[in-house]
Amino acid sequence: MDKRFKLIRSKFLLPISDRLGRSTRISDGYVLTDASSIKEVGKYSEAVGTRIVKEHGPDLHVIGATRRRVYRASDIPCLAGVVMPGFVKAHGHDHESPIIGVAKDEPLTEWLDHAVNLFTGFMNERRDELQKRFGRSPNLVTYLKARLDDIYYGITSSMVHHCNHNKYRVQEIVEANVAAGTKMIVAVGAQDRNYDPRILDTPEGSVQRMDRYRELFGTAERTWIVPGPDQDFSNGPDQLKALKAWANRHGTLIHMHSSEEPNTTRWFRETYGQTPVEYCHSIGFLDPNTILAHQVNCTDRDLEILRETGTKIVHNPLANTILGSGMPPIVRMMEMGIPVVISTDGSGSADNQNMLMAAKLASQYQKALHQNARVLPAQKVLELVTIEPARFLRFNTGSLEEGKDADLIFLDLTSPNLTPTREDNVVENLVWASNGNEVRHVVAGGRVLMDDGRFTTLPEDEVKSQVQELSELFADHKRTAQEIKGTGAHT
Ligand SMILES: [Zn+2]
Repeated sequence: MDKRFKLIRSKFLLPISDRLGRSTRISDGYVLTDASSIKEVGKYSEAVGTRIVKEHGPDLHVIGATRRRVYRASDIPCLAGVVMPGFVKAHGHDHESPIIGVAKDEPLTEWLDHAVNLFTGFMNERRDELQKRFGRSPNLVTYLKARLDDIYYGITSSMVHHCNHNKYRVQEIVEANVAAGTKMIVAVGAQDRNYDPRILDTPEGSVQRMDRYRELFGTAERTWIVPGPDQDFSNGPDQLKALKAWANRHGTLIHMHSSEEPNTTRWFRETYGQTPVEYCHSIGFLDPNTILAHQVNCTDRDLEILRETGTKIVHNPLANTILGSGMPPIVRMMEMGIPVVISTDGSGSADNQNMLMAAKLASQYQKALHQNARVLPAQKVLELVTIEPARFLRFNTGSLEEGKDADLIFLDLTSPNLTPTREDNVVENLVWASNGNEVRHVVAGGRVLMDDGRFTTLPEDEVKSQVQELSELFADHKRTAQEIKGTGAHT
């Protein structure tokens, strides 16, 4: 464990903090952390540098500087980029990391059959062989790859929706998170209908699983376990009530996909005479501790229910567009006071974990839809991938201020696409002009996870080569595998 204080100084600093002002932009700023939290944030000066090196001596590590046992103030470089809070991803699936580019041009339920469920089935059938080949659980391989993806894009904390077959593999996801040094809520999946029959639960079984995982992993570092029933259509009322009661008993969040595609809403109307939101509301599932992913299809009444109950929404524009699901009315939601944040969804449907790209698409789509360039400015969408999702997930991250966890990232601004960048356009350039992969340094909980583009906690080459191999084996399997058909209520 690296217990040193960390100092980073850069051309621009964005605290995205309520205390320092959400839109505050500091030129030549610095952040000082101790082993786990932020101690100082502000404008750098020679006096500041001199004081810090004097106070901390050999206990100081200056990020981006030539390594020294003891630094002098003149050794502290002003890095040519921007320091900001690590991104907070409120909805994703680590198990999808190897299935980028699989089953494209298909809607949600077909994609679930042809990509997600086929892949997880393959992992289960070939487990012993794959385990032998990789010297570790193949699921762990996929989760470690997802941790690389997150760190690469500057995501330091997330909620991972651990769906379908992955609900049996919580030990590996906890292991991956602990190894990576990130923060994670694991929303453990469940389903008791309209899904792969091999993995259907009962309400009692789902609750027992939650009890067992809480006992096993409830004290794992930087990891929290909450219920995450997969889909509104794949969980009957008794199961949802039982899992919500579990969440209430333990004071946790609960997470679920909701109203993602129009077919599902149609099925709910035919079956219950209700929309998915009305159905969830009628069984007491919705309140401020419920976080719904998507909520694409909404009636006026749905929006009223969401507002009245304080339910939180995670918008995933990359997945919603690729799967042709449609886009939720997030501008209207925010005007009504419904809490909304932006995330990526899993790599399989997104097909990346690029938070800045997700923020950009969310904003661009709404501007075009409303024929109004003023909706969702860059500053706002940046808040929707940092401070707001941190609040959703109860993380002490998402902004840079004294007392917050030391989760921060540095993005290089020297590439042609980000030149010129000034204090007055740095936020706009991040959202509109960046590629989203300019992250060079990542610190989480005071620990350096990426140092000048190099992963420090994970064996990048080994994980990438194992995932490549895994994906080639899966491609072979897919050619001859029996087609899975049957996910989704309306099929
Ligand atoms: Zn999802």
